[in-house]
Amino acid sequence: MSDQKLPRPASIALALHIFATSLLPLTSPTPQFPAPAHQQSEKHAVAAAAKSTPRLWPGSRYTEAERASAIRRGLRFIYGTARDEQNFAAYGSDYLWCFYTISESVGDAAVRREARRMGLERARHWRGTHRELPADADAGMVADFAFGDDAAASLGLRDARLRRELRRAAARFTARDFMKFDPATEPPPSDVPEECEFDRAAHERGSTHCRICQRPLRMRTRQDVWYDALINAYVGERAGIRLGAGYAEVFRWLPALRPYLGGEGGANAEFYDTVYALTHVVYTLNDYGQTRLSPRWLPREYEFLRANLREAIRARDADMLGEFMDSLRAFGVTEADAGVREGVEYLLAHQNADGSWGDAAERDIYLRYHPTWGGVAALSDYRWRGFSPRFARVKNLPGVRVPR
Ligand SMILES: [Zn+2]
Repeated sequence: MSDQKLPRPASIALALHIFATSLLPLTSPTPQFPAPAHQQSEKHAVAAAAKSTPRLWPGSRYTEAERASAIRRGLRFIYGTARDEQNFAAYGSDYLWCFYTISESVGDAAVRREARRMGLERARHWRGTHRELPADADAGMVADFAFGDDAAASLGLRDARLRRELRRAAARFTARDFMKFDPATEPPPSDVPEECEFDRAAHERGSTHCRICQRPLRMRTRQDVWYDALINAYVGERAGIRLGAGYAEVFRWLPALRPYLGGEGGANAEFYDTVYALTHVVYTLNDYGQTRLSPRWLPREYEFLRANLREAIRARDADMLGEFMDSLRAFGVTEADAGVREGVEYLLAHQNADGSWGDAAERDIYLRYHPTWGGVAALSDYRWRGFSPRFARVKNLPGVRVPR
C-alpha cells in the first residue's frame, strides 16, 4: 500500500530481537510486583471476554476478541504517530490514504468509524497546511499534493481550487518527470539510480556514479520503478490530475515483468519488489481492499502470491506479510487456507507492546507505521463490494490475461 519509498526488509537479527521482546496481544509486560487489584480485575475481565468469544478457527491459539483488539491497537498506534508534526509533514498524504482506505474497506463498522474520525481530523490538518502549491514545486511535490488532495477529498474534505491548481501544475511536467520513464514509448527501465546512500544526492536516469562522492549508485529494480508509476497513474486518474501517464498505459507493461521468480533462497534480488509490484496490481485494481478480483483474471499473479506467502513469515517481515495477506483475500483466499492461518497467528504473536508491528527500534517512522498498517489490513475482514470494475479497463491489453 506504499505510496512512498519501499521499506527495507528487517534484518534477521533485529527481527529476532523483536520476536524475543514482543508480547502477545492483550497481555501487558510481566509485572515486577503483584498488579494492583483494579488491574487484576481488568485482567480477569479480559480473560473472561476472551473465553466467551469464539476461537478464530478450531484449534487456533487466538480468539476473535484478541484479533479485534490487535486491530484497534494497531490503528491507534498509526494515529498516534500521525499526530506528530514531523511525521505528518513527511508522510501526511500516505497517512490520509491509510485512514481513508481502512474507513472504507474493513468489515468491522466500529473500526471503520474510528478510522474515519482519525482520517477526518488529520485531513483537516492537512488542508490547513496545503492551501496552495508552492511556486517552485517539482513533479514529486505535485504528485504528493495530488495524493493528499485525493485522500482528503475521498474522506469528504474537498478543495476544488487546489485541485484546479494541481491539474495546471501537473501539465507542466512530463511522464519522465513523474515516473522516470515514459510508459507511452518504453517498458519500465533498469537504469534508474537510487539516490546516493551516502549523501542522498539524486541523479538522472543512466547515471552510474554519484556526482558528489563518485561512489557507484545502486539501480532501482524495474519492478520498483513500474509500481511507483502505477500508483501515480492510479491516483492521478482518481483525482483527475494526470501524473505522467494513464493507468492502462502503465498497466500494459505488467507482462514485461514476467516470469515472476520466488526468493530463490535469497538469490533473487528482485523478489521483494516483485511482491510489492503485484500487491499494487491488486490495490490499484481494487481501491485498496474495496472490491474483489478473480484469480482467473490474473492467474500468474495470483499463483505467485499464493506460492510465496510463507516467504514473508520466514523473513519475519510483517510489512510484506500484510501485503500478501490482504491481496490474497482480495482474490478470495479465506482463513480456511493454511498459509493465511499461519500469517494471522504470526501477526497476533508478534505485535509489539505499543500496538505496532515490525522493528520497534526502527528510527524512520515510515518503517514503523507502514508495517502496522499492513498488520491491521492483514488481520481485517473486508466488506467486499462486488468485483473490481477497473479490471475491465486493462483486461484486453496484450498479454494481461494469460490463459492457463
Ligand atoms: Zn554520493
